[in-house]
Amino acid sequence: MTETLDIKITKTNHSRLAETDFNNLPFGKIFTDHMFVADYVDGEWKNFQVIPYGEIGLSPAISALHYGQSFFEGIKAYKHADGTVSVFRPDKNAKRFNKSAERLCMPTIPEDIFLQSIAAVVDIDRDWVPTQADHALYIRPFMFATDPFLGVSPSSTYKFMVLLCPVGPYFSKTLRVKIETYYTRSAEGGMGFAKSSGNYGGAMLPAKKAVEEGFDQLIWTDAKDHAYVEEMGAANVVFVLDGTVLTPSTRDTILDGVTRDTVLALAREWGYPVEERRVSVAEIIEGAKNGKLNDAFGAGTAATIAPVGSISFNGEEYFLSDPKTREFSQRVFKEMNAIKYGTTPDTHGWNYIVNAE
Ligand SMILES: *Cc1c(COP(=O)(O)O)cnc(C)c1O
Repeated sequence: MTETLDIKITKTNHSRLAETDFNNLPFGKIFTDHMFVADYVDGEWKNFQVIPYGEIGLSPAISALHYGQSFFEGIKAYKHADGTVSVFRPDKNAKRFNKSAERLCMPTIPEDIFLQSIAAVVDIDRDWVPTQADHALYIRPFMFATDPFLGVSPSSTYKFMVLLCPVGPYFSKTLRVKIETYYTRSAEGGMGFAKSSGNYGGAMLPAKKAVEEGFDQLIWTDAKDHAYVEEMGAANVVFVLDGTVLTPSTRDTILDGVTRDTVLALAREWGYPVEERRVSVAEIIEGAKNGKLNDAFGAGTAATIAPVGSISFNGEEYFLSDPKTREFSQRVFKEMNAIKYGTTPDTHGWNYIVNAE
């Protein structure tokens, strides 16, 4: 960390904390008392502020709305038994934030400013970090273009904001997924590696159709041949095939997930063979048929480890083992939680502790 950021803090005088039901936290609908906001004007970031959460006034002509110069991040903060609040690997998100920014011709943010911005607002709303098992404070940093100009060119002004939501577990059940063989999330040369808002708008129709067909999620395949597995919904996908932890290698069509990286790091430490390469639909289906597909799950900050119960391909549904009996995903889920909630030593330096100001 370099110098301390000058952040103007305006606290709310009507906290909603006491009236919030922490036993009923629909994902992304309950916001904390405060939010962070900064402006990019005249080629620099300025006006760093923590202000009460609420509506903001914007021109209806902002290019974020018309041309999609907009992207986001997703991170979580956890409360330990001793009250410590830690954020999981936000340095990785800071780097990815800047990759997304560059892809969309938007300004980058120095990593230490990104981290201090998050720490500032999480610190003020630290009482909002849930204490129940498997709950967390979801952190949503995002940036969008604010020039009121209907020309297709990069904006010269932007806002960087951070919202916070207390959340419970994202998926409560084992997922029934289908391999998507028509729609495409991202193509080579596109922006699948960026957490660009437009990627998610484009994914909604295929996801809705999959739900109408009775599935919970879809597995995206490559845009050219639909023969290789890419991701699962808005999460990375990890398999254990015949004892090997296997996941598609990152490329410009795949989001380089922090959870994915964490899962692979633990797998390697535990001595599992790990392969990051092109993963064909054919080998996954073959493994599901002959019983060698030992495990399959989605990996992401929001979803954490989301076990796949069955995979459907070309109208055939293949059932996998009961998730509770799966050695790898159970172990990795428990270990990641132990690190995040501080019940095991953080030997990797993954927890960024939010100090009380
Ligand atoms: C956010 C996201 C992921 C998961 O990334 P994490 O850093 O683990 O949260 C994977 N794929 C897509 C498309 C995503 O948007």
